[in-house]
Amino acid sequence: MDLTEHHDDRPGAPAGVPGPPALLVPYVLALTVLAAVALCAVTATNRWGALLASPALVPAVLLGAAAVAGELRPLAIPRASHAHEAVAVSTPFVLALVPVAGLGPALLVQLAASLADDLRQRRGLLKTAFNSSQYVLSISVCGAVLGALDGRGVLDGPLDVGPRDLLPLLAAGLAMVLTNRLLVAGVVAVASGAPLLLVLRDDVRWSFTSQVVLLSLGALAAELAGTGVVALVLLCLPVAAIHVTTAVAYQHVRDASKDPLTGLGNRERLFDELEAALRSGRDAGVVVLDLDHFKDVNDSLGHPVGDELLRAVAARLVAGQDREQDREQDRDAVVCRLGGDEFAVVVPDGGPAAAEAAAHRLQEALQEPVRIGALELLVRSSAGVASAPDHGADAATLVKNADVALYRAKLERDGTAVYSPDLSVNSVERLSLLADLRGAIGTGDLAVAYQPQVDLATGRLDAVEALVRWNHPVLGPVPPDRFIPLAENSGLIAGVTAHVLDTGLAALARWRADGHDLRLAVNLSARHLSDLALPARVTAALAAHGVPAGSLVLEVTETGLLADPARAQEVVAALRALGTSVSVDDYGTGHASLGYLRGLEVDELKIDRSFVGAMLTDATDHVIVRSTVQLAHDLGLRVVAEGIEDAATVEALRTLGCRVGQGYHLGRPTTSQEIGDRLVAERLPRVPTQASTTPAGG
Ligand code: C2E
Ligand code: CA
Ligand code: CA
Repeated sequence: MDLTEHHDDRPGAPAGVPGPPALLVPYVLALTVLAAVALCAVTATNRWGALLASPALVPAVLLGAAAVAGELRPLAIPRASHAHEAVAVSTPFVLALVPVAGLGPALLVQLAASLADDLRQRRGLLKTAFNSSQYVLSISVCGAVLGALDGRGVLDGPLDVGPRDLLPLLAAGLAMVLTNRLLVAGVVAVASGAPLLLVLRDDVRWSFTSQVVLLSLGALAAELAGTGVVALVLLCLPVAAIHVTTAVAYQHVRDASKDPLTGLGNRERLFDELEAALRSGRDAGVVVLDLDHFKDVNDSLGHPVGDELLRAVAARLVAGQDREQDREQDRDAVVCRLGGDEFAVVVPDGGPAAAEAAAHRLQEALQEPVRIGALELLVRSSAGVASAPDHGADAATLVKNADVALYRAKLERDGTAVYSPDLSVNSVERLSLLADLRGAIGTGDLAVAYQPQVDLATGRLDAVEALVRWNHPVLGPVPPDRFIPLAENSGLIAGVTAHVLDTGLAALARWRADGHDLRLAVNLSARHLSDLALPARVTAALAAHGVPAGSLVLEVTETGLLADPARAQEVVAALRALGTSVSVDDYGTGHASLGYLRGLEVDELKIDRSFVGAMLTDATDHVIVRSTVQLAHDLGLRVVAEGIEDAATVEALRTLGCRVGQGYHLGRPTTSQEIGDRLVAERLPRVPTQASTTPAGG
């Protein structure tokens, strides 16, 4: 007869009768009692013998078979761009059965068909009870209306159906469908908490036309039944045709809302889902998730691997959400791919807390490395969360604000960020900065300054650290602390590092050509430590400038080493195998255990300036500096003290046995020209001490 459920996988529409809400069981129970009474009354008063003795028996059996077949093979009517409505094609045949066979047989046939379908679909008791009851009730209403309009007893067995019966039949059919819709809308409203009228409106809009078409077929079938079986069989042909064409249409609609690469929903689907959840008045939220450094995978390993990775990530994300939903089946979050390496999930209810929890779940699902052929890729992601009503009332605003939050999450390297209005202002500013930085790489706007590292015993230049400088055409100098995190999170860092390495090595080659031997230190970002192609690029840069590997120091932070320890170890080992040394920058500020650092095998520790700067005033800091120097020596590592701002600190460090220092007192970051001049000056005969440590400008 009619629809029992929304066969869609939308978050809002429960699949048949969903789980727990308090009113659900009483509602279904009440319907079941009513239906049982109606069923008893009908079976008791129906004149069964009349049908068995009538020539209508064969057409009735045929109609019954068609009704069962129609129930088991429902029509998929495309509804929104992704959902569909399962309309059982039993409706017309059951309607025809009411006059052709009588109300009793019509009821029993539909009941049998519905039970068979529920059994086949393994629906639960509550769902089955509801489905059966609503059928019994709506067919009873149909019989009552037909009896009233037609004036003949629908319980008396087969009736002759003539042209004048068609309108009453249609009206009875309409009453049947309306009853059914009302009962279904009731259960949806009870289960989802959405207002009944809203559910009904949504429902009627989509299904009314298909219902009218089916009912007319039913009326026709009733009249044809009188002419025998052949006409009825012929009638099945258009029904079958409708079946095929709607199935094709449905497939088209589905394809249009699918991401072809991953099979997930696409952007349209996301918006539909979100709108649907919002329409039902719930606190729907959205999580936008973006893979960190996906571009690198694509660039270094090729697009096929990139595609494979996206598919694997998609599967993980879906599995991650599904596992969670075992508990609450009707609240399923739908995973979509927005394009590129951006994914999104609609969280249909629960506000920001639920959305944030979903974000964490998604990220957890990506914890384990992804295996692609022989490769094992570590996937990291950032997520932004926005949720109605606080962060927006419509899908477009929510997705936009989740994007803003995502952007913040990337900057803060925080994993997940929830939207807040003050993020927007900041983000626009940072976005434009990022765009400018993209342009600055390769133009003269991005320069390199060199800060001396001085031998504390002799006062001579031992090394220089290359520090990037950005002179923004409008903003003026932008400090690296402001744009390096941006670059790190946008993939631009590779270009920045390449530029600094190239410029620094060129300067070093010039100093070396002038007969000066010193090291050049270049900062690496955490993400370089997961880049297995880095050693080859360093080799190429060294070769391009004719600089021996031993003259290059690569500075990495503890935090960088810890982000992906196994991979970092591999990259560090490869760099050291080239002959370059590796230095642990900002030593003491991260959380690396000493044991870990020993296992890693590096060449140098740079004591962070926060300890060095306060070592004369803070006893703890003094102890930290002293024991770090000791540790470095015990492990055979070079140690560099950073942030030396006065002569007293130089003296104290010298006493502790620290050989190399860096800081404003020993020289500010400056141009390669000035470093060159200083190197020349160091060669000239001079009075010992201070002369060589005159701070240079910078
Ligand atoms: P860092 O690697 O710890 O670099 C040392 C920073 O300390 C530099 O700041 C330097 O100017 C500053 N400094 C040097 N001596 C003193 C001192 O005596 N007192 C104080 N208070 N500060 C001192 P800068 O150039 O602003 O760089 C900041 C950070 O930006 C760097 O910290 C580094 O993490 C990052 N960075 C700079 N250049 C690059 C680069 O080319 N690549 C990467 N990945 N990061 C860079
Ligand atoms: Ca550094
Ligand atoms: Ca440092």
